[in-house]
Amino acid sequence: MEPGTSTSDERVLPPVEEMAAWLDGRHPGGDGVLASRARETMLAEVGPAVHMRGLLEFSNSCTQGCYYCGIRNDAGRSVRGVRRAESVPLRFTLSESEILDAARHCLNAGFGSMTLQSGERRDPAFVAFVERILRRIKAETTTPELPEGLGITLCVGEQRRDVYERFFNAGAHRYLLRIETSDPDLFARLHPPPQSFDRRVQALTELQEIGYQVGTGVMIGLPGQGGEELARDISFFAAIDADMIGMGPYIEAPGSAYVEMNRRSLLPAGSTAERLRRALRMIAVTRIALRDVNIAATTALQALSPTGREAGLMFGANVLMPIVTPGSRRDSYQLYQGKPCIDEAAEACTACIIGRAARVSRPVTQNGWGDAPHATRKGRIPA
Ligand code: SAH
Repeated sequence: MEPGTSTSDERVLPPVEEMAAWLDGRHPGGDGVLASRARETMLAEVGPAVHMRGLLEFSNSCTQGCYYCGIRNDAGRSVRGVRRAESVPLRFTLSESEILDAARHCLNAGFGSMTLQSGERRDPAFVAFVERILRRIKAETTTPELPEGLGITLCVGEQRRDVYERFFNAGAHRYLLRIETSDPDLFARLHPPPQSFDRRVQALTELQEIGYQVGTGVMIGLPGQGGEELARDISFFAAIDADMIGMGPYIEAPGSAYVEMNRRSLLPAGSTAERLRRALRMIAVTRIALRDVNIAATTALQALSPTGREAGLMFGANVLMPIVTPGSRRDSYQLYQGKPCIDEAAEACTACIIGRAARVSRPVTQNGWGDAPHATRKGRIPA
């Protein structure tokens, strides 16, 4: 296919009612048939390979107050006079050399790409820091196999357009910003001002205009969210023409963030098993509907089941994000309770994650960026 031509313009989504029924567990023949259909679509559109992105959680400092998140701005503050030591995340930002060590680890492991994630800060010092580390990673990970260095996905929240441009010019070529839910009212219940649904959508549009490959996604198991709401989320992904999707089950937050979540009636809906099943169905239906995008089997799946990420691959996901955050910092980056792998080192995670792909008979991309065919077809590849 010629670059710039697109299949997605001809992409026809299944009707919302049909997707809703599948998401509610009413696919003809059951979830096993749904998963096989998703795998068939995956094989035809993106192939069997699993692309790795080493996930570096480089800072938990955050200015935002998302009620569900364990690193929200005031996590650890006393709630009604009670302050529990275990609920206070020790705030950290890795040094440049720690970040470069992690990048080299990704390079040596053959991952080809890394994701830099943090809480949301917009101050000039933070922006300049991120810009500098992007340039250094690019400069220091250029090899014969990766002539343009590691592929970098950035996940540092909402920023001004000119900041997104600076990050793009410094070498980030993919950006993850979840919409969290495509229902504006539910978004407003989950996110205190100044965050707004419209601003988040605008940020996604700006990222695309700048030339990023854009990823978005939702949490699964939010209060009031059933099959129909999830089907509308998939329609939203199509409407904004996302290249990548990252989604996972919604999980209780640790410490004081849990108290806030509970106080606002925002606790997850449905049992752990039901949320996991829904999350897997969501991956499958998204694959069937969106076809040629990259879809991650996220860490949160594994928080609900030891083999959650393998299951994600079986339901049509094609990206894994092994955590490469230094072991000593992992317990300070607990977005939700029961986050796996927090007592492990990057080396152990690397071996483990490659094993997970192998156990479901999937090859792993070595030394490649693993961009989504959807992005390539749309011409969203950095010059
Ligand atoms: N500050 C960045 C990174 C946020 S953390 C940003 O705003 O994009 C990455 C993702 O973790 C979030 O987008 C959210 O979907 C997920 N997350 C946070 N708390 C969670 C919880 N309690 N359960 C499940 N996922 C959660």
